[in-house]
Amino acid sequence: MAAKILIVEDEAAIQELITYNLQQAGYETVCADNAEKAMIIINDELPDLILLDWMLPNMSGIEFARILRRGERTRLIPIIMLTARTMEADKITGLEIGADDYMTKPFSPREMIARINAVLRRLIPEATEEMVEIDGLRLDPANHRVTAGNKEIELGPTEFRLLHFMMTHTERVYSRNQLLDRVWGDHVFVEDRTVDVHIRRLRKALESVGKDDWIQTVRGAGYRFSAVAALPEKDSNAEI
Ligand code: CA
Repeated sequence: MAAKILIVEDEAAIQELITYNLQQAGYETVCADNAEKAMIIINDELPDLILLDWMLPNMSGIEFARILRRGERTRLIPIIMLTARTMEADKITGLEIGADDYMTKPFSPREMIARINAVLRRLIPEATEEMVEIDGLRLDPANHRVTAGNKEIELGPTEFRLLHFMMTHTERVYSRNQLLDRVWGDHVFVEDRTVDVHIRRLRKALESVGKDDWIQTVRGAGYRFSAVAALPEKDSNAEI
C-alpha cells in the first residue's frame, strides 16, 4: 500500500514539482494550497505524512502544525516543514512545535525522497514497501507475500496489514482500539471485537508454519507480536 502524502504548498510550480517526484517514487499524493483546504482533506482522510510549507497565505505552516499537534486525531501525523528561510532559529521553532523534519528550499527531489523515507521508516514503518523479516518469517509489502522458509502463507488483506503492522512494532502491546486506528484506519467504525476475529484468522494462518504463538494475548491489555518464546501462561493464545 503506497503511503499517501499531503502537500501543503501555495506555489503552484513547487507543488507540481513535488507531486511529480513523489508519484515517480510510488507515493500517492494530494495537494492543498492553504491550511483551510488541507484541514478539509485531513478531516476526510488522514494522510501518512504531510509536507508543510512554512509561508502560506492566511494561516502559516507553523500555526497549522500547532493545530495538528493539538488535535487528538491528527497529533501523530508525521510532518516535514518546508521553508525558504535558512535561519537556525526557524529550524529550532519548526522542530519545537513538533515537526519531524525540516527542509530548506531549494532542495533536490532526491533529498526530499530520502527524508520522507527516513521519517516514514522511523514513525510508520508499515507504510513503507520495505521487506520485513523476523526469525524466518518474511513479509514483502511490494508483492503482498508472506513466506516462512519456502512455504507461502495465504492471508486475506486485513490479516496481511495486521501482520505487517505487528511485525514492524514487535514486543509492544496494542489494544484493540490502537490496532483499529493503526491497521483499519481512522473513520472506520467497526466493532472492536472485529480485531479478535482477524487475530484468530492470522493465528490460524501462522499455525501452518508453527508461528501462531508469536501473536500473543496480553490479558486485559491487548495483543503483542513477539518471536521470543511466549511465557508459559497456559492461555497465552486466548482472547483478551
Ligand atoms: Ca509558500
